[in-house]
Order: sequence, then C-alpha cells, then structure tokens
Amino acid sequence: MHDHSLKHLDPRAPLVLDTRDLPRRPGAMRVIQRAVHAPSNLGLELIGVPEGADLTLDLRLESVSEGVLVSGTVSGPVEGECGRCLRPITDTVTVSVQELYAYAHSATEETTEEDEVGRLQGDLLDLEPAVRDAVVLELPNHPLCRADCPGLCPECGVSWDELPADHSHTQVDLRWAALAKLTEETRTGSGAADRGATEKE
Ligand SMILES: [Zn+2]
Ligand SMILES: [Zn+2]
Repeated sequence: MHDHSLKHLDPRAPLVLDTRDLPRRPGAMRVIQRAVHAPSNLGLELIGVPEGADLTLDLRLESVSEGVLVSGTVSGPVEGECGRCLRPITDTVTVSVQELYAYAHSATEETTEEDEVGRLQGDLLDLEPAVRDAVVLELPNHPLCRADCPGLCPECGVSWDELPADHSHTQVDLRWAALAKLTEETRTGSGAADRGATEKE
C-alpha cells in the first residue's frame, strides 16, 4: 500500500479544493465559480499560463458513492514566443476537466493507483495535476504567431516579414536569383514557374 498521507495538500494552494460543504450523499452537488492565481509551470517551455495570472474555475463537484467527481472548465491567459520568429504570443486557453477523487478506504482507493484516480485528503482534493495535464495537451508544442509565419533569415536573424522579397547575403545568391528571374521571364507556357523554382535550388 502507498502512504498517501505523505504528500500533504496545502489548503491555500490555488487548485486545492475544499469539499467540506459538499454533503457525502451521492447526487449532492456544489458549483465552484471563481478566479484563482495560476500556479507556476502551468504549460510548456515556449508557451504557458504566467504564474499568478487569473485562472477562471467553472466547476461542478458531485458526490458519488466512491468519492467526489469534479467536472467543468478552467481557463486563463497564455503567453509565449513564436517558435519561428520569436515574437511574443498572447492567447487564452480553456480546458475541460473530469476527474474522480476517491474517498480514503473506498473500494476505488483500494483497487487503483494514485496516478489513475485522485484521492481525497480529508476534505481536500488537488486539481492541479489534472489541470496541468489538460493545459499541456491543449497548448501547441510549436507555438506560432500565425500559421504562415515565415520566420527569420538564418543569415541576419531579421524577420522575413521585414525584409524585401529579394533579400540575400551573397553576390552568388543575387546573380542566381537574377538568372532565375530572367529565365522565368524569357520562358512562356505552362510549367515555366515550376522549372524556375527548381533552378533556384
Ligand atoms: Zn512568428
Ligand atoms: Zn538576412
């Protein structure tokens, strides 16, 4: 048996919920609608909910025979950085959660592992792992400021958005581009653009 009492929940932690006023009678329900401060590390390396930002909880706590079922949504602001051009990104994220927290000594508690089904510690439950997992799943692994962000010129690091279309760093490139352009102009008929593109490579 695991000793679940080893990790004591802090009732002041933003995503530790107190179920004290939820009657332990299956079907009893309580609604939690409030804003809390986001805990640290809620997100991924390049994008996430800033620590301390307002997280809006819109949750329903329901007594079931084995414990407390929490369902609803958690939403908050997101800040990050475009993976291509490094520009800041601001957005919002909303995740759905549905988690069962088993009573101590219930059949569910005896027959499951703590990482499968949450546990109530007295009247407290910790929604943070569920919210963290849901937020991480929802956020993009490769955040972009926009889907077709062209990124940065690898030579000078300036965003392609701010550079002329024929921006280049070497004479060879310039001549090559001019030649490709000339070839395109002197050719007629379908497929000229395709051949031009091939020759530029
Ligand atoms: Zn970008
Ligand atoms: Zn450049």
